[in-house]
Amino acid sequence: MKSTVNKIVILGGGTSGWMAAAILAKSISRAHITLVESEQIGTIGVGESTIPSIHFFNDLLGIRSTEFAKLTAGSFKLGIQFENWKLPGEKYFHGFGSTGAGMWAAGFHEYWKRGVELGISKPFGTYNLEGMAAKAGKFAHVQGGLNFAYHLDAALYAKRLKAEAQRHGVIRKEGKVSQVHTHEDNDFISHLELENGTRVDGDFFIDCSGFRGLLINETLKTPFVDWSHWLPMNRAIPLQTSITAPPPPFTRSIAHHAGWQWRIPLQQRMGNGIVYCNQYMSDDEALNKLQSDVEGEVLTEPRVIKFVTGHREKLWNKNCVALGLAGGFIEPLESTALHLVQQGIMQLIKYFPAYGVNDLEVAQYNDYMTTDYQDIRDFIVLHYCQTQREDSPFWRYCREMPLPDSLQNRIALFAQTGRFVQRKDEIFSDSWLQVMIGQGLIPQRHHPLADELSEDALAEFLESIETDIRKKVNTLPSHQAYLQQYCQSES
Ligand SMILES: Cc1cc2nc3c(=O)[nH]c(=O)nc-3n(C[C@H](O)[C@H](O)[C@H](O)COP(=O)(O)OP(=O)(O)OC[C@H]3O[C@@H](n4cnc5c(N)ncnc54)[C@H](O)[C@@H]3O)c2cc1C
Repeated sequence: MKSTVNKIVILGGGTSGWMAAAILAKSISRAHITLVESEQIGTIGVGESTIPSIHFFNDLLGIRSTEFAKLTAGSFKLGIQFENWKLPGEKYFHGFGSTGAGMWAAGFHEYWKRGVELGISKPFGTYNLEGMAAKAGKFAHVQGGLNFAYHLDAALYAKRLKAEAQRHGVIRKEGKVSQVHTHEDNDFISHLELENGTRVDGDFFIDCSGFRGLLINETLKTPFVDWSHWLPMNRAIPLQTSITAPPPPFTRSIAHHAGWQWRIPLQQRMGNGIVYCNQYMSDDEALNKLQSDVEGEVLTEPRVIKFVTGHREKLWNKNCVALGLAGGFIEPLESTALHLVQQGIMQLIKYFPAYGVNDLEVAQYNDYMTTDYQDIRDFIVLHYCQTQREDSPFWRYCREMPLPDSLQNRIALFAQTGRFVQRKDEIFSDSWLQVMIGQGLIPQRHHPLADELSEDALAEFLESIETDIRKKVNTLPSHQAYLQQYCQSES
């Protein structure tokens, strides 16, 4: 291929395609970007819950937080409420932000654990500001305050990204790709051929074509790393309904006998969906369950989405990077897909092949991205394997399945010693503690530093954190009032 990269072709106009187009066009002015999409094929039309890393992306695009909630008809998300995951009828909260306050050598959970032994600790979530604000239905932007993400309307988000991308010179071509051509000498992709006869040449290609992976998979034959044995979910049915109550500032994840259901509240509608494994639940059963569980008027036709959890062995292969569903999917449980798209774009900018594709840079990119995928995979598997449910074949499988070594080690270390370790760049940190403890994994020991406090001092310490959180939550307005005042959608 040529030694310089100027012409970039993005295949796909879903969220990942337009996210890539908007940021690349804004960041790398020498790039001439063409985005090809097909209205006939359409987009997946889901992906409406996010994690706080989205702020970094919005900052790059210059979108303020209240503006973002307004333009996506969105709401604020302080975390996820997990219901029926540990046992039917029990729930816990994964709040963004850290829980309690630790010392440099001992985490808060070590003090909390000693408090459990003494009978003076409240549930772990009591000491998490975001979780307590979410439970109270409150939200505001406060100095040094709440960690949050968003629930968003994916179509409105794509519209905004598209406008931003086109403002920075991205050319959009409508049409269905009928053939992908490669260079004879090195199998690099040379151009796309559309059904209407249009030819789209590029130096570098970004595959955002969805699950099919037209470039990374069908053209370059990049192998897929299949994680179904750890993450057996392989079907989802989304369904939108009208909203029947003020939107709470959190996503609900409600486990059922063969998977789980989501509830993602937007300003004017509720996103619902059921996720399941077809080995344990039929499509008909899933649809019936979803339809009988939703509230409000049904606004969309249900459809079954099939997927396989895992990722392409190489997210960057030859002159092609795969983003979004074309690159991989770890199921929607912790809303990490858009985060991975964002990571893929940021790393591509970091290793941008301005002077041609360099194998060493490609290896760095792939190493970074696959590590990110694996960390997130472990975190998601944790929710399934750490259950105490035994009421169905699905949950019994989850309890007994062999785990990835990385996860097995992390769980064992925590269970036996109370120590929690994480990689420097890992996206989830305190979240691990909240989910481990929420799922009922209480360590056998705690750090000796926690014994340095007398029982009274420990009680006072725990009480002071709880009181501080209660005071902060009391000062916040309701989430609904905040949305109405600052973020009311015009759509
Ligand atoms: C059930 C489910 C729930 C999810 N929930 C979340 C969530 O809560 N949070 C989150 O972050 N993520 C979530 N995701 C993931 C999220 O939906 C996707 O990461 C996101 O929408 C990006 O999708 P995409 O752009 O990669 O693919 P798509 O939206 O499928 O877009 C593919 C694009 O490629 C184009 N295309 C394909 N083939 C051709 C062709 N031959 N010619 C021309 N164009 C073509 C299509 O027209 C389309 O524009 C969820 C996914 C699923 C399946």
